[in-house]
Amino acid sequence: MQPQLTRLCLDCGRLDDDVDPAVTMCLGCGSSRLIAHDELRSLSVAHADCGAYYASIEKRDHPELANQPLIVGGGERGVVMKPDMVKYQRESRRIRELMWAATPLVEAVSIDEAYLDLSQASAR
Ligand SMILES: [Mg+2]
Repeated sequence: MQPQLTRLCLDCGRLDDDVDPAVTMCLGCGSSRLIAHDELRSLSVAHADCGAYYASIEKRDHPELANQPLIVGGGERGVVMKPDMVKYQRESRRIRELMWAATPLVEAVSIDEAYLDLSQASAR
């Protein structure tokens, strides 16, 4: 007997049980960004890692760069955008507050990464 897969849409958060593996689009929003696992409903620890964290913040604050390749880094002589660590720390605190709203059990790993124990969190 095949395990019954539960599928999560990474875009709208829809959960579907006992999914047909041939269906590759979310039944809620049509997204193809799906993950499936037979223990998805019993897993309770999440790992959150913001992708391209510094560059994502700069692109948010400078929409003219949104579709441009962007490097954030360098020192005094760099030709790339200088990091604004005060801003990145401030955004990190905002993100952490969102995590704490979901669960008080947050273990920060870095400025843009944390583990969340969601075993006591209620579904919304
Ligand atoms: Mg990251």
